[in-house]
Amino acid sequence: MPRVTIDGAPYEVLAGATILEQIRSFGGDIPTLCDDQRLAPFGGCRICLVEVDGRSRPVTACDTPVADGMSIRTSTDALEAQRVALLRLLARDYPRDAVERQPEKPLHRLLRAYGLEESARGDSDPALLDTTHPYIRVDMSQCIDCYRCVRICDEVQGQFVWAAWDRGDRTRIAPRTAATLRDSECTSCGACVDTCPSGALEDVSVLERGEATLWTKTTCPYCGVGCEMLAGTRDQRLVAVRPAMDAPVNRGHLCVKGRYAFDFAHAADRVTRPMIRKDGVWREVSWEEAISFVAAELRRIASAHGARSVGILGSARATNEDNYLIQKLARVVLGTHNVDCCARVCHAPTAAAMKAMLGTGAATSSFDDIERASAILVCGANPTENHPIVGARIKQAALRGARLVVIDPRRIELAEYADVHLQLRPGTNIPLLNAIARVLIDEGAIDQAFLAERVEGWPELRTFLCYWSPERAAEICGVGADDIRRAARFYGETRPALIVHGLGVTEHAQGTEGVEALVNLALLTGNVGKPGSGVNPLRGQNNVQGSAQMGCEPAHLTGYQPIEQARARFESVWGAPLPTEPGSNLMQMMDAGARGELKALWAIGYDILLTNPDAAATRASIEGLELLVVQDLFLNETAREHADVFLPACSSFEKDGTFMNAERRVQRVRAALEPIGDSRPDWRIVQEVARAMGVESGFSFTSPAEIWEEIRRLWPAAAGITYARLETAGLQWPCPDENHPGTSLLHQTTFTGGRRAALQHIDYRPTTETVTEEYPFLLVTGRSLYQFNAGTMTMRTPNVKLRPTDTLDMSPADAERLGLGDGDRVRVRSRRGSTQLPLHVDPALREGTLFATFHTAETFLNEVTSPVRDAVVDTPEYKVTAVT
Ligand code: SF4
Repeated sequence: MPRVTIDGAPYEVLAGATILEQIRSFGGDIPTLCDDQRLAPFGGCRICLVEVDGRSRPVTACDTPVADGMSIRTSTDALEAQRVALLRLLARDYPRDAVERQPEKPLHRLLRAYGLEESARGDSDPALLDTTHPYIRVDMSQCIDCYRCVRICDEVQGQFVWAAWDRGDRTRIAPRTAATLRDSECTSCGACVDTCPSGALEDVSVLERGEATLWTKTTCPYCGVGCEMLAGTRDQRLVAVRPAMDAPVNRGHLCVKGRYAFDFAHAADRVTRPMIRKDGVWREVSWEEAISFVAAELRRIASAHGARSVGILGSARATNEDNYLIQKLARVVLGTHNVDCCARVCHAPTAAAMKAMLGTGAATSSFDDIERASAILVCGANPTENHPIVGARIKQAALRGARLVVIDPRRIELAEYADVHLQLRPGTNIPLLNAIARVLIDEGAIDQAFLAERVEGWPELRTFLCYWSPERAAEICGVGADDIRRAARFYGETRPALIVHGLGVTEHAQGTEGVEALVNLALLTGNVGKPGSGVNPLRGQNNVQGSAQMGCEPAHLTGYQPIEQARARFESVWGAPLPTEPGSNLMQMMDAGARGELKALWAIGYDILLTNPDAAATRASIEGLELLVVQDLFLNETAREHADVFLPACSSFEKDGTFMNAERRVQRVRAALEPIGDSRPDWRIVQEVARAMGVESGFSFTSPAEIWEEIRRLWPAAAGITYARLETAGLQWPCPDENHPGTSLLHQTTFTGGRRAALQHIDYRPTTETVTEEYPFLLVTGRSLYQFNAGTMTMRTPNVKLRPTDTLDMSPADAERLGLGDGDRVRVRSRRGSTQLPLHVDPALREGTLFATFHTAETFLNEVTSPVRDAVVDTPEYKVTAVT
């Protein structure tokens, strides 16, 4: 057994470790300044010097590999003298007041430990201060040239913002492309602040509000990546958020939303008392009155018009436990399957397509497969803006040499790193993916053994694809036929290959079939069930996967179990019969509202009016309701225009529970704050309404942990996931028993249910939303890095300073032709309605295509979007609207 001796004690050698890692592996430590576990070893500050027998000089522990037989000393008089000399040198010009002001910075602690605080004799230089950024104060008087900010921006975020200027004593770290951080290409992820050991880079919030006195590990309230974070509070106020170092998804990194956009929890317009509106006037009421009113009205309406006249929407921002109780209330108390959530307007097509073809309607693989893949195909997703931690990981993979194919109507940031970018016309995914499949066949890139063993429908698909030559698809899609061939080769000939897709695939008239076409590619090439392969949806909101998985879905119960298959189990555990009449999904409920058949709707954490397409149609659906209950943090647009009751919920910083991320990982949410004002966790509100409606049995939980225990009983694939196990780390389902480690990769040897996967042949049926002389542009909608969905949370944070408004993005050629320039206010009109917003001339757009975000109520972009829906699951076609 290879051994090493450290300070006289023997240890087994850790394979591939540095001396520093070896020392830390048994709980030892030595001082360091330039080291960070997220970064490649650097050996710059030389504080970590150690003596090794046989070496004439000390070596830096952070970048020297440990080897069999080494005898290492970590603290001798000579080493300590060298450390003191190095620290004195650093302290010579270092601002004294910084050491006093920020005593907990690693550099300052080290100076204190060596009794060298007095050695800091410098002053801050106002010329080195940059306060332009809303979240990050830069004071390079405190810089010690450890290069950690430069390295983390390069090696983790891949943004290359920082650079070292000049040499030797004159070295200064500053933004590479601009005079200030605000004007640079910084994406505000805060990684540089997080690694900086001196406070040269510091969070403005910490400087203004003081250091956190309590840190609570929880999960990000924004996108479906599911980054784990430490929420720092002081006097019941969030003052900082830091990334969790041991988080498997984000590995010590966060994006601007997770890291900085937390102030919404304390926003001045947060509604924290229940309200009822009568004759157009809101009145604050007690919880008792609000709950009794809602319960009485629901009861009245259901008995007058039948259970089908009532609907309820769960929330992707609420926990699994909240959503579980919401759908249980719908089915057991209201007696209807009219329960849905915002998965309907995003990835319902993914769930349907993947369930139908592979047996499980969720990601086949994990984010760790990004680093395992030799080729990555990103289709209809813009991860660097919308799933930034995944975006950064894909970018790093491409920089390390993975092949990257991007399919997107815009030249998104990842296209700059791609081997091929197919900039197709909106709405033409199907021809393009069919043609890629055809090239895979023509060029022998298919996996015959995999097809023979695990797939059916291959001969039929081969015949069908004869009609889909790259030339034919190129004509429809507006891309080069040879580029289609190149894309197919990169995906098909470089194994393993991973597919990552987003709403650019699903939010189309053929959204479900678009996902099926992607699954076809994976099956043809045998890229399923192997590390580094698979088909993976990037889920939009933090818990949209969990919300639908919990049963906020009219056709499925908890665990996405079809109602008739699981009816007996649920009836037995719930002690109540399930409704027999099929339920309506969100869009069908809207239709029923317009027909006057839906009479009551309870929308939880979902701004229907601002979010759903074709706002005029949404208004027509909800304005005639006899009861509209909105449960949220703020008076959103739905509440402002039409609600009768407002129930104030807690944010996820104020409650316990679990979220489920896009890779099927269940992770803990922990309360960092007490509920603000009179707000309550969603599960408690729902439970109280159930009880007020006379159903106490099954609605007497005292904690989210108790609710999760019931979920485990009903959902076999989650039976092994316990709160106790989640204390240490999240778990990916299926996890059928408490000894099971969870499943990072599905379909390794068989598909769910043991069956063969079935290839689909998918005809192209162009959307009915087409351009005409009157409406010559196709508008695509989407999100931006700094804002999130309907802006309910991010628009109440300083992110507004980083991106204050929605914009209409137009190609330079179109802008020139129309005589328009950056910042011009333009009116966009579709067959449904119109809105105004500022123009942004953007070379990322091709002629004839426009792009706009939908974050603000001022813009209300859904006044113009199209009512066309996916033919299978009704997901709206947000990605194609003809406008002028
Ligand atoms: Fe939060 Fe998503 Fe950003 Fe991670 S990538 S910090 S989950 S918004």
